Amino acid sequence: MTTTLLDLKGIGEKGLLKLNKIGINSVEDLLFHLPIRYQDKTRLTKITNAEPGKKYFFEGTIDKANVIFYQKRMFIVKIHDKTSSLQLRFFYFNKTQMNNFKIGRKIRCYGEIRHLNNIKEIVHPEYQIFEGENLPALDEYLTPVYPLTEGLHQNSLRNFIKQSLLLLKSKKIIFPEILPKKVLEKYQLIDINHAIYNIHKPERNTDYKKLISSQNNNKKRLIFEELLAHQLVFKRIRAYNKTLLSFRLDNNDKPIKKLISKLPFKPTNSQLEVMNEIIKDMQKITPMMRLVQGDVGSGKTLVALFGALHAITNGYQVAFMAPTEILSVQHYQSIKLLLKDFDINIALLYGAMKTKEKKIIIEDIRLGNVDLVIGTHALIQSEIKFFNLALVIIDEQHKFGVHQRMTLTSKGKNSETFPHQLILTATPIPRTLAMTLYGNLDYSVINEMPKGRKKIETIALPEDRREEILEKIINVCNKGNQIYWVCPLIDESDVLECKAAVNTYTELKEKLKDLKVGLIHGRMKMDEKEKVMNHFRNKKIDLLVSTTIIEVGLDVPNATVMIIENSERMGLSQLHQLRGRIGRGEKKSTCILIYKIGLSEIAKNRIEILRKCGDGFEIAKEDLEIRGPGEILGKKQKGEINFKIANITRDYKYIRDTRDCAESISEEISEILAKRWISEKIEIGKA
Ligand code: ADP
Ligand code: MG
Repeated sequence: MTTTLLDLKGIGEKGLLKLNKIGINSVEDLLFHLPIRYQDKTRLTKITNAEPGKKYFFEGTIDKANVIFYQKRMFIVKIHDKTSSLQLRFFYFNKTQMNNFKIGRKIRCYGEIRHLNNIKEIVHPEYQIFEGENLPALDEYLTPVYPLTEGLHQNSLRNFIKQSLLLLKSKKIIFPEILPKKVLEKYQLIDINHAIYNIHKPERNTDYKKLISSQNNNKKRLIFEELLAHQLVFKRIRAYNKTLLSFRLDNNDKPIKKLISKLPFKPTNSQLEVMNEIIKDMQKITPMMRLVQGDVGSGKTLVALFGALHAITNGYQVAFMAPTEILSVQHYQSIKLLLKDFDINIALLYGAMKTKEKKIIIEDIRLGNVDLVIGTHALIQSEIKFFNLALVIIDEQHKFGVHQRMTLTSKGKNSETFPHQLILTATPIPRTLAMTLYGNLDYSVINEMPKGRKKIETIALPEDRREEILEKIINVCNKGNQIYWVCPLIDESDVLECKAAVNTYTELKEKLKDLKVGLIHGRMKMDEKEKVMNHFRNKKIDLLVSTTIIEVGLDVPNATVMIIENSERMGLSQLHQLRGRIGRGEKKSTCILIYKIGLSEIAKNRIEILRKCGDGFEIAKEDLEIRGPGEILGKKQKGEINFKIANITRDYKYIRDTRDCAESISEEISEILAKRWISEKIEIGKA
C-alpha cells in the first residue's frame, strides 16, 4: 500500500493544500524537497571562540533580560558560558516569549555573531530555554533548512520529511534507478535513495565544505539529475516546437520606423540587432522561442515592444506577461504612452482586478477587440481565450517556471497554430554558460547600455551613520530628486519584512517632517500599491520606503538615490537588481548600502565588488569566487533560475556533462525526471 501525504502525522487537509502549493503532492515529492542549507547544532562553541560573521550553536545561562529603547524598542538578553558572555537582541517579541527568559535558566541558541563595541551579539537567534539542569543530548545530524511557503513552518516541514525518511529507510518507499548504467559509471553517480537520505540527514562529521560545494557525492547525484531534467525539458521544448506551426508575420516595418522616430532617444545598436533577430524569427513558419538576456536597465522592454508592434501590424494579438502587478501596471502605462499615436487597443489584466472589469476585458480579448494585453499570471488562466494570439512576451522569466511558459503557449491551440514566444531575462549568467544551459533555445544578448548612463556610485555605511544619511536625503530631495529606501528581509519571513518597512516608514516620517514620505509593501492591496507608485512617479512622494517588491523592473528615472538596509544579508545579484532601479536617467545616481557594524571580511569584500563593478554578469561571477564554495547565502538569491539544488555558476561542468548525456536518455525517463525535478505539469509533446 502506498503512503500518501495525509498518512503522515501532522498533515491535515489545510496542510496538504499548503504543500500542494509548493508542488508537493506525494511523499516522494516531499523527499525531493531539498534543504537550501544546514545548521550545525551537533556541537557547541565556546562563546570566547566565536568569530563575527559566522554562525554557531551556544549553550549558556541567562543573566539578564530587559526591554530597552534605543531609536527603537527592543528586547536584550545577556547570557554567559564558562568562557565569556553574549548578548541576544530582538526587535520583534511578545510577552510569552519575554517571560520565558528567566534569570538562571539554561539556554541554547543558534545564530550569526556580530561584534558591537566589543560585545558579542546575535540578532534574532533561534533558541530553546530549559527549566532544569539536565539538557538533552545534542543532535547527531546537521539540521536541514528547507525553502518555505506562507503558513508552512520550518519545524513542520522538518517533521514531515523526517517521517518520510523513515519510510525510505525501511524501504517502504524506493526510487528505482532510472539512469542508464553507463551514465552512472561514466559520471560516478551514487544510488538515488542513498543520496536523498543523506542530503536530508548529513551526519555530524560530514565535511561541511564539501557538502555545500558539489563535491559531496550525495549532492552530486542530485545536481546531476536536476540539471539533466532541465536539459531534457529544453530539448523537448525545442524538438516539439519544430513540429508546430506558427504565424508567418512578414508584413511591413513602417510602424516600427515610426515608433523609433517618436522615441525621446535613439535605440542602441544592440537593441536594434536583437529586434532584427526577433522579427526574422517571426517571419518563419515555426514558433519563435527566443530568450533575450540583458542586464538591468539595458532596455529590454523596448525590444519586446518592437516585437509586439510587428505582430500587431500584421493583424494579430500580443500578450505581455510581467512577474508582478506593479510591474504590469507600469508597462501598461509606459507602453500606452509610447503607442499613443498608433491605432492600437491596449488592455491591462491582473488577478486582483474587479470581476466585472475583468470579464469585459476577457470578452474583448476573445473577440479580438484588444490588440495588446499586458498582465500578470492572470493571463494564463484557462478561461482566457484569445482571438488570434501570435506573440507572447514574458518579462523577467526567472520569476516564472518553464512550464508556465508552456501553458501559455498552448493557449494558441484552438487554431492549431501556436504563438511565437519571447522571454526577457536579467538572469546574471555569462553568455557561454547561458548558451550551454539554454542550448536548445534561441538566444540573444543586449550587451550595450543606453548612452549617457552614468555609473551608479555605491557607498557602504555602517548603521550608526544613519543621521548623516538623513541629512543627505533632505539635500537630494530639495534638488527635486527622489529616493527609494529599501528594507529587505531580516528573516525568512515576508511578514517581518513588511513590518520592518512599516516601522522605518513611521520613523522616517517622524524625522523628515519636510519631506513627503510614502510606503509600499507586498501586503498592501493592489489599488493602494498602484496609487503609491503613481504618486511616486508623479513626484507627489519624495521618499518611498519599500520592501524588496520594487526589485523587479520598476522604472522611475527621477529617482536617483537608493538606500538599502541590512545590505549584508542580501545576495550581490539581488543588490545589483535592486540598485538597477536608479541610474535610469541622465542624472548621476547614488546607492547607499547600510550595513550592521561588525562585518566579516567576506562581507566587506562583497560590498567592495558592488562598489567597483556595474555589470551584473561580472558581479555574479565574482560573488561566487569570493564566497568560494564554502560560503553560502542565507537565502537563495532571487534572479537565479529556480533550481532546487544545482547552482548554474558553480556547476558549470555538470551542465556540459548533462547536455551530452541528454542525448542518450529515453522519453520515458525524461518524463520521470521532469516530474521529479520540475514539479508543475508539462504538456510538451502531448498536444
Ligand atoms: P530593463 O532592461 O531593465 O527592463 P527597461 O526596458 O526598463 O530596462 O529600460 C530602462 C530605461 O531606459 C527606461 O526608462 C527606458 O525608457 C530607457 N531606455 C531604453 N532604451 C534606451 C535607449 N536606447 N536610450 C536611452 N534610454 C533608453
Ligand atoms: Mg525590465
